[in-house]
Amino acid sequence: MKSSNKPALKVLETKASSKFVPPKQDPKTSEQGPIGDYYSKILHDLGEDPSREGLLRTPYRAEKAIKFLTCGYTQSIDEIVNEALFSAENDDMVVVKDIEYYSLCEHHILPFFGRVHVGYLPNKKIIGLSKIPRIVDVFARRLQVQERITQQIADTLMEVLEPRGVAVVSEAQHFCMMMRGVEKQCSSTVTSAMLGEFRSNKATKDEFLSLIRSSLR
Ligand SMILES: [Zn+2]
Repeated sequence: MKSSNKPALKVLETKASSKFVPPKQDPKTSEQGPIGDYYSKILHDLGEDPSREGLLRTPYRAEKAIKFLTCGYTQSIDEIVNEALFSAENDDMVVVKDIEYYSLCEHHILPFFGRVHVGYLPNKKIIGLSKIPRIVDVFARRLQVQERITQQIADTLMEVLEPRGVAVVSEAQHFCMMMRGVEKQCSSTVTSAMLGEFRSNKATKDEFLSLIRSSLR
């Protein structure tokens, strides 16, 4: 680090102590809502100048981004599952591996991201395979903890498919651990939810785990 840090710090101090005046929005072009206004205040309180060129549209963009990252609150499982359930004679285990997801930890509002592996034992009903990643996103795009996403995916599949069992294993890396706190970049957290025969029958659970083993870190 060079000594050029110093003047920047000085600027930060003066801005933080000055009174917050929201930057002028052009009412015709601005779609910024109340969340964007809060971001503008946060930028000011951090010591930034929300009216400087590079930050002018930042509250608007940040509002759009956080709304997208939490859009799971307004999505409905019924709409996703609707017309994607099919009757089937096959009762062999169905496994969908390596479903990527991106979420926000509810403690720090920092990202955590990883993959989820899903298995179920059909009971006369199967679901279109593309629907499982969409169900994952409904729960990932909220403020979350990894344990709860894992359980919610399992409970949802149990409810809509009424299968003989559901298994969900999720592994993720948490920015709140990587960038702050313990600052461990390479640790990953694994959570699982085993329902029905995956819980009661060790051979079934072992079969699932061996099918996803090559995917686990
Ligand atoms: Zn966190």
